[in-house]
Amino acid sequence: LPAAAHALNTPLMEFILSETARFLDARPNTKALAERSGRVWRGGAPMHWMSDWASPIPIYAARAEGAKLWDVDGFEYDDFCLGDTPSMFGHARPEIARAIAEQATNGVGFMLPTETAVEVGEMLTQRFAMAKWQMATTASDANRAVIRWARAITNRPKILIFDGCYHGMVDDAFVVLEDATPIMKKGLIGQVADFIDTTTVIPFNDLDALEDALKYCDIACVLCEPVMTNCGMIAPIDGFHEALRNLTRKYGTLLAIDETHTLSSGYGGYTRAHGLEPDMFVVGKAIAGGVPAAVWGVTEEVSARMDQAQAAIGAGSSGIGTTLSGNALAMSAMKVMLTEVMTEAAFAHMIKGAEDLVAQLRAAIAVKGLNWSVVHVGARVELVFAGHPPRTAAEMRAAMNPLELKAFHLYLINQGLLIAPFHNMMLISPLTSPEAVARLVAAISAFGRIIRPN
Ligand code: PMP
Repeated sequence: LPAAAHALNTPLMEFILSETARFLDARPNTKALAERSGRVWRGGAPMHWMSDWASPIPIYAARAEGAKLWDVDGFEYDDFCLGDTPSMFGHARPEIARAIAEQATNGVGFMLPTETAVEVGEMLTQRFAMAKWQMATTASDANRAVIRWARAITNRPKILIFDGCYHGMVDDAFVVLEDATPIMKKGLIGQVADFIDTTTVIPFNDLDALEDALKYCDIACVLCEPVMTNCGMIAPIDGFHEALRNLTRKYGTLLAIDETHTLSSGYGGYTRAHGLEPDMFVVGKAIAGGVPAAVWGVTEEVSARMDQAQAAIGAGSSGIGTTLSGNALAMSAMKVMLTEVMTEAAFAHMIKGAEDLVAQLRAAIAVKGLNWSVVHVGARVELVFAGHPPRTAAEMRAAMNPLELKAFHLYLINQGLLIAPFHNMMLISPLTSPEAVARLVAAISAFGRIIRPN
């Protein structure tokens, strides 16, 4: 913690300091690994998000199974983060382990399609109702492909995103509103292109701003999550999706729905559960059970326009795609996910668990009179430190006190509970037990008592 923070010496800071000490004092193996790691991994971990948790040094995972994870000091955690979605259906699923092992004995990367690929394509179309598919290795890649194609087939330069969105390592989408003015996100290191002119950013749920932006007919696509899940969780207002679809059709803008997180809404994602009609559709992370893979699908009409655009260019390669995309290993993992893991029964369990969590959280909030609220979609739940669920990212940011968030997450970690590190999102897997949900609610209530003692 910075020295200035010590100087603040507020009760919240004291709490963070004592929880930090508690974490470190109990974890000799973690400390030893962190020391070695810092010598070779920049920032102390292979990917900087792994260091971005509330703990002072990363939690080193020893193993995980179902909805539980164990660290190298033997601490057991109820895992409501689930790798921030790839393990949404549980860690170390035997079905996935078997599929991966079988494929590994037959080869994993041929740059050729397999029979499994054909079957998977058929299953994707049946489940997500898009006509034609392509694979990518990450949802970031898939979103970049979608943006490129949307521009190519509409001949329009701009895209529209909602303030507070995250669609992966997609530079075009790193534009936010600061005091209602679009700016490039400060984190976009080393990018020299200026996206302010080609990326329109408006507040979520603002239909007037949406029509104002679309009416110039220069926006290729709206890229959005159906429920925002990366700036806290923000639910759409009633009628939002209907209006979004009507307005995008009216002005000839393609609608690209990114279901990478909201797949947790049900068997065919939020799109199927709520009858959305996207032109382009993306899903990654959990789709291959954590094996790196993402898919993007388009309607028959969009596919035909892509064919035309490609024929006009006369070039075989679109500059879209990477060597590992669509490899046989990812395909076999995806097949087992679609047939044995992401089942109707699994979603029923997940959604019931999330509903129980929401009911228990709301009861605990009411009993303690906390000025908190809960946002919920399918198997995904967000605790918001504000009495009313925000409708825009600006409202959500105002509800987020970084110190309070740090204290909360650190406290949960010390209680053996993992939630997504960047805000208060909790995910229920088919293997999450009612006891784990009860433990989470008890810890959250206890935290409420600690920070709001009166
Ligand atoms: N879309 C959404 C909605 C996401 O939340 C994320 C990652 N959090 C991505 C895309 C990018 O996924 P990946 O990091 O696997 O490329």
